[in-house]
Amino acid sequence: MPRPIHAFIHTEALRHNLARLRRSAADARVWAVVKANAYGHGLAHAFEGLRAADGFALLDLNEAQTLRDLGWRGPVLLLEGVFEQRDLELCSRLDLWHVVHHEAQIDMLSKHKTQVPQRVFLKMNSGMNRLGFTPQAFRSAWARLNALPQVDEISLMTHFARADDAHGVDAQLQVFQQLSSDLPGERSLANSAAVLRHGARDEVSADWVRTGIAMYGSSPDHGLHDAAYWGLLPTMSLRSQLISVQQLKAGESVGYGGLFTAAHDMTVGTVACGYADGYPRHAPTGTPVLVNGVRTRTLGRVSMDMLCVDLSGLASVAIGAEVTLWGCASGGQVLCIDEVAAAAGTVGYELMCALAARVAVTVEA
Ligand SMILES: *Cc1c(COP(=O)(O)O)cnc(C)c1O
Repeated sequence: MPRPIHAFIHTEALRHNLARLRRSAADARVWAVVKANAYGHGLAHAFEGLRAADGFALLDLNEAQTLRDLGWRGPVLLLEGVFEQRDLELCSRLDLWHVVHHEAQIDMLSKHKTQVPQRVFLKMNSGMNRLGFTPQAFRSAWARLNALPQVDEISLMTHFARADDAHGVDAQLQVFQQLSSDLPGERSLANSAAVLRHGARDEVSADWVRTGIAMYGSSPDHGLHDAAYWGLLPTMSLRSQLISVQQLKAGESVGYGGLFTAAHDMTVGTVACGYADGYPRHAPTGTPVLVNGVRTRTLGRVSMDMLCVDLSGLASVAIGAEVTLWGCASGGQVLCIDEVAAAAGTVGYELMCALAARVAVTVEA
C-alpha cells in the first residue's frame, strides 16, 4: 500500500465558488486565475470545475499550452506578459492575450512578425509598485501600442494592493480612472478580495474580474471574514491516517526538540504527513486538525514525513484512523485551510501552492 496521505480536488466546490464569485462581480466576465498550477490543485484537475469561466489567466507559457491541449479555445491571458521575444510567437500560435507592463515588452511587440494582431492588456501601476507603467507614463505607452500594427484591441488593467483590508480600493481606483477614463477599451481591476468586498460597484468589477484564491475556497480577508461567511467551499482536502498511537506519561515530550511536554498522561497519534508533503513546518502545537472528523490539535514540531496529534478525549481511535489536515473529512466535517494557515503564520495561498508532488491527487465530482 502506498503511504496513506492523499489530496482530493472537489470539482463541484470549484463550480460552486466560481458561481458565487460571479454573483458578486456585477456584469463582469470572469478570468479564472490558474497560475501556479491552479494554486497547487493541478491545472488539469481544476479545469473541469472551472470550465464555466470566461477565460483563464496564468503566468507560464507551458501552462497556457496545457490549457489548449485540454481543449480550451476561449481567452487565455498571460498576467506577467511575455518574458522574451520568442514568447510572442507562441502567443500568436496559441492565440494568447498578454499583459504589457513594461517598455521592453512594447519593443518586443514592435519587432514581432505576425499577420494577426494580438490582444493586449496594458497595466498601470496605480500604487502597488510591483508591475506596470506609472500613471504618468501610461498614456504614452498606450499611444505607442496603439500605433503598432502587431496590436489589436488594447484593454486596461491595474491590480489592488489592499483590497482585503480597511484601506480598500478607492485610492488606486481614483488614480486609475483619472489617467484612463477617456481611453477606449475594456477594463480589468479586481482580484478575489475586491470582487467579494467591493464587486457590487460597477467601476470595480468593470469588464473582467480576475479571481484566484476565493475560487479555491479560501477567504481573501480571513482575519475579518472566513470562507463560510463568503459562502465558499473547500476545493482541496488533504487527508492521511494515523500510523502509530503512543501513550505519553506526564513529563514526557513529543518529537524533535521536545517542544511539547505532557502535563498528564495522554494518548498521542502519529500522522503520515510532514513538511515534505507540503504541510507547514512552522505550524506550532495547537494547530487544528481533524481525526475521524473530530477537531483536535497538533503536538510538537512537524517533521519531514510525520506530525503528532492529541488524541485526548477521542475514544476508540486506532491506527488507520482518518486524519484531515485541511479541507473536508470523508464524513463532511470541514477544517478550513485558512485556519491551519493562520496557526502557521501564513495564508491559504501558500499552503495550497506548496502541496508536494509526492502527494497523490484524486479528482472528485
Ligand atoms: C494572482 C493574481 C490575481 C488573483 O488574485 P487572488 O487574490 O488570488 O484572487 C489577480 N490578478 C493578478 C494580476 C494576479 O497576479
